[in-house]
Amino acid sequence: MNANEMKNMKHDCPHQQECLQLLQSILDGEATQEQKDKFMGNHLEECMPCYQNYHLEVAIRDLLRKKCANQAPQDLVDSIKQKVIQNLAR
Ligand SMILES: [Zn+2]
Repeated sequence: MNANEMKNMKHDCPHQQECLQLLQSILDGEATQEQKDKFMGNHLEECMPCYQNYHLEVAIRDLLRKKCANQAPQDLVDSIKQKVIQNLAR
């Protein structure tokens, strides 16, 4: 994704709550292939908040897996969120 494409993305998602649930079920492996294709293939390309949320979720899940912990300290989770958001905002 280049900077120009980022600029063309929507900055508000009309169904952010719905999208958030969908992306979580995708990451949990509970979504159907059709849901995945639609969301990952179309929606994430044009929807900034969902794009950010997706990468945030991935980063957090990745971290939790690496730490092998059921619960990461909240300040750690927060600082990762901050980093991911900053990276995406560039
Ligand atoms: Zn969205």
